[in-house]
Amino acid sequence: MTPHEMEAGLEAMERAAREAVRYRRGVASAETNPVATYRQMLEVFDAPLPEQPGEPDAIIADLIARATPGVRAATAPRFFGWVIGNSHPTGVAADWLVSAWGQNVGNLTSAPAAAAMETVAANWLLEVLDLPREASVGYVTGATVANFVCLAAARSEVLRRASWDVEADGLIGAPPVRVLIGADAHATVFSGLKYLGLGARRVVTVETDALGRMLPSAFERALAAGEGPVIAIAQAGQINTGASDPFDQIAPLAKAAGAWLHVDGAFGLWGRAAPTRADQLIGVDQADSWATDGHKWLQTPYDCGFAIVRDAEAHRRAMAITASYLPPAQGADREPSAYVPELSRRARGVGTWAMLRQFGRAGIAELVERDCRIARDMAAALAAEPGVELVCEVVLNQFMVRFGDDDAATLATVERIQADAVAFIGAATWRDRWVMRVSVSSAATTEKDGEITVAAVIAAWRAVRD
Ligand SMILES: *Cc1c(COP(=O)(O)O)cnc(C)c1O
Repeated sequence: MTPHEMEAGLEAMERAAREAVRYRRGVASAETNPVATYRQMLEVFDAPLPEQPGEPDAIIADLIARATPGVRAATAPRFFGWVIGNSHPTGVAADWLVSAWGQNVGNLTSAPAAAAMETVAANWLLEVLDLPREASVGYVTGATVANFVCLAAARSEVLRRASWDVEADGLIGAPPVRVLIGADAHATVFSGLKYLGLGARRVVTVETDALGRMLPSAFERALAAGEGPVIAIAQAGQINTGASDPFDQIAPLAKAAGAWLHVDGAFGLWGRAAPTRADQLIGVDQADSWATDGHKWLQTPYDCGFAIVRDAEAHRRAMAITASYLPPAQGADREPSAYVPELSRRARGVGTWAMLRQFGRAGIAELVERDCRIARDMAAALAAEPGVELVCEVVLNQFMVRFGDDDAATLATVERIQADAVAFIGAATWRDRWVMRVSVSSAATTEKDGEITVAAVIAAWRAVRD
């Protein structure tokens, strides 16, 4: 690269920064845009492979011009579509630096500052979520991979106790591992089971209540119904209801049965940080592993989740790239690659560090409390409208409503809301019926946004009804 080419590249970086700031200023006050479809965007980008080099600044300018109509306003204050955080500006800024510094946190030498931030942020995470301080933390892409990593540690340890070394000898010929899972578990947990050779279908499903929480009596029966190594998968924050399994009852049962208890807490685990929600998570710290996300309630930019394992040695055995049987000596430095599937990777801990520093313990508590309050108030205001039915009690930040008395009215109302673009809300199925599902998980959302959205939803419903 010539000095001239370098300078041109830096200009492109400046443009990207400027335009990104302009975008975020706009989206913070804008309505939730109707966005171009994937098919439309494909047409916009479709072109043969370039034969010749391009000019950096022109490439970035072109990229922005083409992409903007297809950028979903997921950071807008009235985005309630999925459990999605706000990609908070502080986290984005930190993440820009990770890219600009070109840090590969594959080991301590290649990225000393990033590795140190990951170590410190890991301790902060355990503190804010009030999990065992001796647990290890792996920085992964999200809760899907966090579930996978935690379940790999679980598989390693339950089989080790049955005198089987799964890392060396694989699963073929191993003692069978029983996997217990709540009937309303998140689909991504099954991906982990699939990757690990434990089988997505080869699970024992545990009956749940109306909010999707495992019934302790059913859990106890399932544990007693077999023998040998057992992994039990619970969840903090059901994706439709926000409810958490009754950990204070199931954790002691799992322990007594010698089962490894894993918790998928992608967003719900953050309820631990909020005074009026923490009681729903009593006992969750008795589990053996926890998967959670940074890019949901912690509002980091995308590509940030945490695999947390009480038994750090099992975690390393399942993930460490070299010397899996020789974990670092006592007191050795934390090797960033020893807790994740990858070697070369993005320094996800930098954004995590920045966001924990941004909010502090009090800010996280306040954010979770506010989002839950907004969800509760929106649900109550909607339920007061004739023809709108609140599907179940609101316990956290998620809720569901139905319109009229068939699926068609509900789907038509959701379609209308999306077309009106005052807010973005999606549909889902729950107990075989379509519902409108609202997720309040953004730091950008205010009480006022809740009120504006409720008015828009009621207007859409009335238009469908009349
Ligand atoms: C979002 C979510 C996941 C998947 O997390 P990703 O970050 O998308 O990989 C898993 N479980 C639950 C309960 C979730 O809400």
